[in-house]
Amino acid sequence: MKKYILTVLGMLCLSPVWGQGQVTKPRITIIATGGTIAGIAAPPAENAYTPAQLTVETLIRQVPQINNKASVKGIQLCNIASQYMTPRIWIRLARVVDSLFSGDHCDGIVVTHGTDTMEETAFFLDLVNSHENPVVFTGSMRPSNSPGADGPANLYNAVCLAADRVAVGKGVLVVMNDHIFSASGVTKTHTVNPQAFENPNRGPMGTIRGGIASLYYPLCEKNVVDERFSIRELANTDLPRVDIVLSYAGATSLLFDALVENGADGIVIAGVGHGNYSYQIENSAKKAVQNGVAVVRATRVLQGGVSSDTENPFEGQIVSRSLSPQKARILLMLALTVSHEPDTIQRMFDQYP
Ligand code: ASP
Repeated sequence: MKKYILTVLGMLCLSPVWGQGQVTKPRITIIATGGTIAGIAAPPAENAYTPAQLTVETLIRQVPQINNKASVKGIQLCNIASQYMTPRIWIRLARVVDSLFSGDHCDGIVVTHGTDTMEETAFFLDLVNSHENPVVFTGSMRPSNSPGADGPANLYNAVCLAADRVAVGKGVLVVMNDHIFSASGVTKTHTVNPQAFENPNRGPMGTIRGGIASLYYPLCEKNVVDERFSIRELANTDLPRVDIVLSYAGATSLLFDALVENGADGIVIAGVGHGNYSYQIENSAKKAVQNGVAVVRATRVLQGGVSSDTENPFEGQIVSRSLSPQKARILLMLALTVSHEPDTIQRMFDQYP
């Protein structure tokens, strides 16, 4: 009995003070990076717009309802359209997230981001973030002043999810258009429509409407991943160079060879079908692997991924499993900071079946 009471007291002290029966509001930090959510159309009501115009303070002011759910602070990390996102900014972001959580400065984090490369930044952060606190990415497909702007609803949902205990320990999440996704599975599948994000292999993890979340499958991919890369150990220098080569009918090895000649540490092939490519690329890939360049076979196909039973497998090939070429690139960049051994790297990819 005594043990039971101590356990309950311990849980009350150790668990965040938020959630059901909360006494104080969860502390949520919004880290803004730019994108269409901070974009302005000029003149209003037209499709053309300039992204990354509003500051984080303005974004917060536009959705006063979030103050009922959380005690919100803002940080402006950068203000760019996400086609200009870089690995150096990923590292800065990861360091800010690490120091906010390590110093107990907030309970959850929302990152506002352009939608073009949101999935990449979210996945990078998922791989290097060792904290259990919620981290939720969001953005918008329509600029802030357009009729039917989706940014305010997305931001509201993201803050509510970051403030919800259901998001603890789920890895980095993405909230767009009332859907919740894992960072590893989500991808942008529409160029302009507000319903632009999907997880082609598994579907969304859940929904969130008016700030109320329900998860379809609470155990997300993050829970089966045990390889983490410590952001504290990533040097200030650039990450290994990994590029992507697209496969298509008639593709030669010209681009692949150029990358090798220019010092690529790794190359991801966005293959056709089950990670396939032409004879020319195949020959170059084999040579590159013999010369110590890591080669990952991924696919340009949205569903199914690439498993080890490929056509024409070769010694030293790594397969992407369910990761898209752009996510495979990020995992390979990080993997190459700890190993060049294909079997070791393959085991990291195997965690995304
Ligand atoms: N090009 C924009 C960006 O990624 C698109 C968006 O945010 O929706 O920043």
